[in-house]
Amino acid sequence: MTTIETVVDLQKTHDELKAAKELLHGIPDWMRELHDEYSARRVEIETIETAIEKAAAERREAEAGVENSQEKLKLYQEQIGRVRNQREYSALLQEIDLIKQHVEQFEDLGIQAMERQEGEQARLDEERQAFTDLERRYNQELEKWEAQKPDVVEQAEKLQGRIDVLEEQLPKPIVAQFQLIRERFGGVALAQVRELQRIGKGVQMWHCSTCNYRVLPQSLVEIRNNGSVVLCDSCKRILYYVEDAS
Ligand SMILES: [Zn+2]
Repeated sequence: MTTIETVVDLQKTHDELKAAKELLHGIPDWMRELHDEYSARRVEIETIETAIEKAAAERREAEAGVENSQEKLKLYQEQIGRVRNQREYSALLQEIDLIKQHVEQFEDLGIQAMERQEGEQARLDEERQAFTDLERRYNQELEKWEAQKPDVVEQAEKLQGRIDVLEEQLPKPIVAQFQLIRERFGGVALAQVRELQRIGKGVQMWHCSTCNYRVLPQSLVEIRNNGSVVLCDSCKRILYYVEDAS
């Protein structure tokens, strides 16, 4: 393999290793659908649980309101015997009417909250029942995935081994340069050289497919004929060429 071919292979192996590592920390594609459903259902159940808690809190608040208002009502009613004139009497009656309204309002709120709580509870029971089956299937797949993980670990180790071998085949400065460029560009050090779309019978022109900057014909010769590592003049990525891919 020429130097650039080895670098391309090295990049490819790094990509595969990255994918294997991501897979180990994530969910395989074949589990994705069930995983999404499982997560969505869990969120749904948590949402209902929150709604139940909220309704219960509102119910308690309304009940406290009823109790509170009833105590006030009792106090006012006790005062009826002590009023000294008609004006005080009507004022007190007005207060009593108002407080009675409050009692009713709190009672209404309490009933509404209770109905909401009961409705949500029924929904929760249904959801939980449906979830039991889903959870069983999910745990089965999770178990299957756990059983597959050692293979992925082994594959990752093999890829790392291949990276070590490829790096040994390359001159040390090239490896260092490759690493530096990879780190700078989020893991991808390479950019493909492509032929520009020609209008009519113009001269052949080439460009870096990542940044679009022109690639000089002599650079392309260096890459294709000598297999050298040549950087893009603009983005400084390592250029590679695939025959018949432009
Ligand atoms: Zn470029």
